[in-house]
Amino acid sequence: MSPAPPVAGADAPDWIVLKFGGTSVSRRHRWDTIGRLMKRRADEEHVRVLVVVSALSGVTNELQAICDGHADPAGTHARIGALVHRHEDFAGELGVDPGALTERLAALIMLGDDPRAAAGTLDWQAEVMAQGELLSSTLGVAYLRTQGLDVGWTDSREWIHARPMPNQNEWSKRLSASCDYTGDAGLRRRFDAAGPALRIAQGFIARAPDGGTAILGRGGSDTSAAYFGALIGARRVEIWTDVPGMFSANPRAVPDARLLSRLDYEEAQEIATTGAKVLHPRCIHPCREARVPIWIRDTERPDMAGTVIDSSAATLPGVKAISSRRGIVLVSMETIGMWQQVGFLSDVFERFKAHGLSIDLIGSSEANVTVSLDPSDNLVNTNVLDALCADLAQVCRVKVIAPCAAITLVGRGMRSLLHKLSDVWAEFGRERVHLISQSSNDLNLTFVVDEGLAEGMLPRLHALLAHSGAMPVTEAAVFGPSWRRIDRPDSRRAPLWWESDRARVLKAAAAGTPRYLYHLPTVRARAREIAGLSAVDRRFYALKANAHPAVLRTLEAEGFGFECVSKAELEHLYTVLPALAPDRVLFTPSFAPRAELAAAMARGVHVTLDSTYPLARWPELFRGREVVLRVDPGFGQGHHEKVRTGGKTAKFGLAESAVPDFVAAARAAGARIAGLHAHIGSGIHDAGHWRTVYAQLASLAEGIGSIGFIDVGGGLGVSYDPDAEPFDMAAYGAALAEVKAAWPQYALWVEPGRYLVAEAGALLLTVTQAVDKQGLRRIGADGGMNALMRPALYNAWHEIVNLTRLDDPPGEPAEVVGPVCESSDVLGRQRRLPDATAEGDVLLVGHAGAYGAVMANRYNLRELPQEDVIDD
Ligand SMILES: *Cc1c(COP(=O)(O)O)cnc(C)c1O
Repeated sequence: MSPAPPVAGADAPDWIVLKFGGTSVSRRHRWDTIGRLMKRRADEEHVRVLVVVSALSGVTNELQAICDGHADPAGTHARIGALVHRHEDFAGELGVDPGALTERLAALIMLGDDPRAAAGTLDWQAEVMAQGELLSSTLGVAYLRTQGLDVGWTDSREWIHARPMPNQNEWSKRLSASCDYTGDAGLRRRFDAAGPALRIAQGFIARAPDGGTAILGRGGSDTSAAYFGALIGARRVEIWTDVPGMFSANPRAVPDARLLSRLDYEEAQEIATTGAKVLHPRCIHPCREARVPIWIRDTERPDMAGTVIDSSAATLPGVKAISSRRGIVLVSMETIGMWQQVGFLSDVFERFKAHGLSIDLIGSSEANVTVSLDPSDNLVNTNVLDALCADLAQVCRVKVIAPCAAITLVGRGMRSLLHKLSDVWAEFGRERVHLISQSSNDLNLTFVVDEGLAEGMLPRLHALLAHSGAMPVTEAAVFGPSWRRIDRPDSRRAPLWWESDRARVLKAAAAGTPRYLYHLPTVRARAREIAGLSAVDRRFYALKANAHPAVLRTLEAEGFGFECVSKAELEHLYTVLPALAPDRVLFTPSFAPRAELAAAMARGVHVTLDSTYPLARWPELFRGREVVLRVDPGFGQGHHEKVRTGGKTAKFGLAESAVPDFVAAARAAGARIAGLHAHIGSGIHDAGHWRTVYAQLASLAEGIGSIGFIDVGGGLGVSYDPDAEPFDMAAYGAALAEVKAAWPQYALWVEPGRYLVAEAGALLLTVTQAVDKQGLRRIGADGGMNALMRPALYNAWHEIVNLTRLDDPPGEPAEVVGPVCESSDVLGRQRRLPDATAEGDVLLVGHAGAYGAVMANRYNLRELPQEDVIDD
C-alpha cells in the first residue's frame, strides 16, 4: 500500500470531489470505474481525490419504509434482514472479506431493536436513513483496497454540520438539513491530515447540532459533494451519473436535445430548478459561492466530456434549455372586496404560509392573482388544498386549476430574445395558457398549460427554438452533440441521393442555376411505402406540392391518383396524362369560381365542396351527380400556423354544425354525398391525429348515410433535418389500420403531397458573393425567396451545403441570403458552411422537392428556376 498521508501546506495538492449515485455503486464493474477514475485523477492531475457515494440502489427507499413502518417491529426486522442479505451478497460479488461489514451490519440490526423505534423519533429516523451510505462507502473502501488502492474511509459527519434555518421545523432540521459550507485553511489542513490521498465518504448525511445524525433530504448526495467541494476549496466537483450531462431538453421527450457543454452557475441552477433531474438544485449554491466548478459526467461513458458549470462561461445570450415540470397546481384568486383593496396580497399570502405552502410563479391583474404551487417544494395533496381553499374563500373567490405543467425556457437575456420567439408564442397560442411568468433575473420565461399538453409540445418547441436562432445551437462551446447522436453513434444517416451522386448533381448545376433537381427513384421509394399500407384503399398525390411532368408520370405508374386544387392543375394533369380515368382524380378547390367547379364536373372527376354556397347558388351543376364533403373537424395541425387548415380561423372546411344544412342543400340540388374529406394541415408527425380525424368523420358518415369513402387528406410530416427522427410510417399505418378495422364499411383514401416528393428534390444555387458586415458573415446565392419561399414564408429550415466543398470542415456561422430586395430573403441562418466558400461554388438546398418550384415567383422580375430530373 502507498506511503503516509500527504502533509497539508500552502502548496499541498488540491482535492477533486467525485460523487457517484446509487446505480454507480451497485455493480462491481462500476466500482472498477470508480477506482480507475480516482487513480487517473490523482496520477494525471497530481490531486487528492474524495469520492462521495450514495447508498446501493433501492436501499434508501427500504430505509424510508422502515421509518414509515416503525410501529410494526416484525416488518422492521424483516426489512432489516433483507438489507443485511443484500449487502452480504454484494460483498460476496465484490469478493471482499465479509468481516469488513460486520460492525456496520450490527449497527443496522441494533437500530431495529432501538427503544426509539417504537415512537419513530426523528433522530432515530435520521440514523436509520444514514445506514445506506455508511454501508456502501464501507463496501467500496474494502473492495478498492483489494484492488491495490490505498483508500481511506471518511465519516462525513465529522466535516459536514447541519445548521438550523429560520422557519425550519423539527422535521426538516433533522431530515432535510442545510449545512455550513464555509471552509478555511484550518479546516482544510485538518482534512488533509485526516487520511490518505484517496478517500471515500458518504453523501446524504451530516452531524446534527446535538451531535447525532441528520440527513440532507432527497438528492442529498449531490449536495454533500458540493458541501465538501466548498469546505475544502476543491479544484472541482464531479457529479457522476447515468446521463452524459445537462441537456437542452429532457432527452427522453426530445431526442434532438443537445448536450450543454458549458453553463454558468445561474443558468444551471435555473435548469435544475425548473425540471432537469440530473443535478439536485440545492447542490449548485455552495459551489457557486466557493467558485468551485461542477462537472457532470456519465459513468457508462467515462471518457465523454459532459457539462461544465462554472463562472467563466461566456455569457452567451439565448435559450439554453427548455424544461417542464408536471403536477403543478394553480390557484386563481379573484378579489371580492374593493378594486385594488389594500392588503389583499398580504391577506392571501398569509394563508399560503399558514398551510406551509411555498409559492412558485405569480401572475396578477387588477382583480385577480394566480399563483402556482410546485409539488417538488410542497406537500400538495387534496387535504392541504381543500383546507387552503376554505381559508382563502374568506377573502376571495378561489379556483384551483390542476393538473398543470410548467414549461420553462431558460437562458440569459430572455427579454432581448422576444423577437426571435414569435413561433414559440404562436405554438403556445394554439393551446390554453393559464399563466405566463418571466423571472425578474431575466433567466426564465414560463408558460403554464394543462398537464396533458406539455409532453407533446416539447419536441416542437425545441425545434422552433433551434431553428429560429433563439437557441444558439451552432455555438459549439455551449451546445454539444444531440442525445440521438450520443445514444446511437453508429446510426449515421444513410447518404442522401445527392451525396451518393455528387458529380452528377454538380454537372446539372453547371447547366445554370437556380435549378431544381428531382430524383425519381426517391419518389418511387416513398410511393411504395404508402402503397404498402394495407389499410389504405386508394391513394392520391396532391400535385400542388410538385407538378413536374416526370413526377406525375412516376406516381401514376406507382398506382396513385391525383388531387388537384385548381382548374389549371386539372388541365396540366390531363396534358401530362391524357388517358387518366376521371375516377382517379379529386378536385378540392378553395373558394373556386363557378366556372372552375363547372369545368371539373364536366370532366367527371370527384369534386369536393367545403361550404353550402355552391350547392345553394349553383344547384344545376350538381343535379344527379356525386359530391364529396370537406369537413373542418374543428382543429388544425401542422408545422406552421400558415399551413393549418382546420379550426375556426382557417378558411377551409365545413363546420360540423353546418353539416345538416349541407345535407339539405345537397338533397334539394339532387346531389349525392359520396364521400367525406378532411385535410387539416401539413407537416404532421403525430400519427394519432389521423385516427382522431377519421373517427370524427366516420361518426358523421353514419349520420349522413350515403357515404362510401372517407378521405383523411395528406399532411404527413417530413424531417427536414436529416439527423432528426424520420416520419413514423409504421405508426401511421397502424393508426389507419385501427380506424379501418373499426369502420370497415368505408373505403379509406389518403392524399399525401409533401411526403412523396420533399426529399427527392434539391435546389441548386451558385454563390454570388461572401460578405462580412460588422462581424456577421453572409453568403449570397443567385436564388432566394424567389426560388424557394418556404424559409421566408414559414421560417422553414432546410439543410444547405456547399456541394463544391462537401468534404471541407464546417466553418464560422453564416447567413445564406438570396438576391431579392427584401430583408426576409434569407434561406438559412447560422449555417456553418466551409470558411473557403467562394463565388462560383454550388450550394445545395436539401429537401426542396415539395412546395419549392411550384411556389417560385418572378419577384424583382428574376427568372423562374429551371427543373431537371434524375431517373436512375
Ligand atoms: C395540400 C393538400 C394535400 C397535401 O398536403 P401535404 O401536406 O403536402 O401532404 C392534401 N389534400 C389537400 C386537400 C390539400 O390541399
